[in-house]
Order: sequence, then structure tokens, then C-alpha cells
Amino acid sequence: MKIGQHAALTDTGRKRLRNEDALVVAPPLFAVADGMGGAKGGQLAARITASVFDDKTSSSALDAPTRLRALVTEANRQIFAQAQRDPSLTGMGTTLTAAIVEDGEIAIVQVGDSRAYRLRDRILEQLTDDHSLVAELVRAGRLTPEEAALHPQRAVITRALGTDPTVAADVTTIDVRTGDLFLLCSDGLTSMIDDDVISATLLDSKNARDAVRALVRAANQAGGDDNITVTVFEVVEDSWSDKEAASTATPDEDTLSSLDPVPLFPEGSRSASQHAPELGAGIAHGASSSTRSIVPLLVTALALALAGLVVVGAVWGSQRAYWVGADEDGHIAVYQGVPWDVTEGIRLYRKIHVSPLRAPQLSPAERARLLDHDLVREDEARGKVEEYERLAEVP
Ligand code: MN
Repeated sequence: MKIGQHAALTDTGRKRLRNEDALVVAPPLFAVADGMGGAKGGQLAARITASVFDDKTSSSALDAPTRLRALVTEANRQIFAQAQRDPSLTGMGTTLTAAIVEDGEIAIVQVGDSRAYRLRDRILEQLTDDHSLVAELVRAGRLTPEEAALHPQRAVITRALGTDPTVAADVTTIDVRTGDLFLLCSDGLTSMIDDDVISATLLDSKNARDAVRALVRAANQAGGDDNITVTVFEVVEDSWSDKEAASTATPDEDTLSSLDPVPLFPEGSRSASQHAPELGAGIAHGASSSTRSIVPLLVTALALALAGLVVVGAVWGSQRAYWVGADEDGHIAVYQGVPWDVTEGIRLYRKIHVSPLRAPQLSPAERARLLDHDLVREDEARGKVEEYERLAEVP
């Protein structure tokens, strides 16, 4: 697997004069830093951290968690040293949430209250623990998450990079699956909108760039009290040939009985009809479905398919689950299922009979009748086709 779509955006927000957040987008490494400290300290601390993490010369001979720890140590050393040299920078520091995707895993290093999330199977899960006063009170059972969200001290962090000669960073490693979407963000996002909104925004987004813009917009619409920084990245299969095989696999239509579950045909490999485009439904649309994907789209399609299944299940189980249409070559055909395309390439029907008769051989009135796609019993559907064949004098 590898990094697929990714995007990042940082915004000053509506209340701050400066943006003291910093970003690193160096796939498979991503990082978000949120600086703190008077004067220009916060901005500098975050930028130093970003420049350390953006260093592509760091040895990949070491495993990801070890590399992250080494980068944290180096960033901490540089920030602390610079603060020692310049009294106006005393106490400057930064949060850091950084991740490396490697060998089927994601290694995450955490200092402070920026966050990493994973969206998998439409479920958004926070992967990091905030190092903040309120988060510690919540973990100790002394505050509810609702109280924490409104607590006046919610911005107080308990760990930062660069404020002390050494830093305690949490490093975790979790497995990664194809289709996982990750989000790293500063508290300017999470203090403005809650996880449900983040989740819905990700699921509604067309692509990674759309997602980061929508998240920043949502945080600003909620007030934009702080700098907002987000980066999203998805994990995809890296073998194109594997994907192709998966997307063009066709179920064995002949062995399916009426008791089988409704098939969801991946017919992306079939080409659009050039013969009878006016027939509309029942004719394949897109020539090929794109193999590029981002989780929200895919998940939405699957959810739609599942919702369709529920509705269709009843119809399919009944006898009136047949209709007459025309196939991709313009041949009159009997279909089982319902004449719906859930999305390009996913249908809720299958062809069970193809007539030698082609739709263009019918009169316009007959063609119009053919396209009503009324659900009927199988014998009625076959009878309709035989009637057309008789009218057209097909042997
Ligand atoms: Mn912040």
C-alpha cells in the first residue's frame, strides 16, 4: 500500500493576527505543529519543528517509530537552544503530531494537543491522546468531555516540544488498511467543531483537497478562534493490476438462482452502447469506472448499495422482480432485480434472457413501452419479449 490522495491547508482563523501553526507534507510523512509562546516564539518553534521533520535526508534505514523519536529529539534540541540564546524567545514551544506510513503500519508521534484521526468504515476515531490539562482531567474522570470543551483552560497543554532540555513524546504504531483516511489537525479545528462534524465533513467531501477546505471553512464558520491546520491523506493499494482485477471481476450469472442475494454488479469494464443510446436505463453508462478513489466516495457508494439492498431485498424475494429493457448492445432483454444503478458500475439487476431482437427494430411506441421498466413476474416479462419478437417477425 501507499499514500493516495493527500492535501493540507493552514489558515490564520478569524481572531488571531499571526498563524503560529506549521505543516509538513512529505509523503509518507505528515506533521502538524502548533506553536506557543510570546512575541514570535510560537511561530518560530513550529517552523523549526517543520523544517526538522521536512528533512528528507533522515535515514530510512531506521524504522518509522525510531525515526520519529530522533526527529522529535532534534526539533526539541534546536528550539530549546534557540530560546536559550534569545531571552525574548524564552518558553517558546510547540505541539507536534506527526505520522509516517510504512510497511502496512502508521507510526504516530504525539506531543501536546494537536490530533491524529483515522476514518475507517465511516467511523472516525481519534488516534492520539491530548496532552492538555482538560484531557488529563477527563481521563481522571474529573471532567466530562462536554465540560472539557467549554473549560476556560482547555488551551493549556501539559507537554510541548522545545520548552525543556528533554521531551516525553508518545509514539504509537497501528495497522493500516487500504482505504483508511487519516487526518492530522491543530486544536484550531477540534476546539471549533466536534468529531461528528469532522466525520460528516470528511464523508461529504469529493476528494482530499475538498476535505481540507471544507474542514477549515467549518472551523471558521464556528468562530475561527485559533489558527486552523489540517492535512488528510488516504492509503491506497499500490498495485494497479490488483485493483483492475478486483474492479472487473464479474459474478457468474448463470449459476445464480432467484434465491441468491441481489448481486452488485461491478460492470465498469463494459463499454457504453453506441447502438441505442436513447434507451437510457438498462444500457451501460461509463466506459470504465475510475480506479482512483477516496474513502468518502467509496463509503458513500457502499452505503447506498446497502440501503438499496434493504429495499430491493423485499422486491427480489417476491415474484415481481423482472422487467424488460435493452442491453448494452441494444438487444431486448429480460432482467431480474430492479432497474437501478446505485452508482456507475453498481447495479441492482442482472440480465437473464437476451432476445435476438434489437430495440431499433421496434416502433417508437413499442420502444417507449419497453422503457417503462415495470416490475412484473418472470413469465410476464418473457411473454412481453416474445410478443415483440412476433410483431417484428423474428424467427
Ligand atoms: Mn492552536
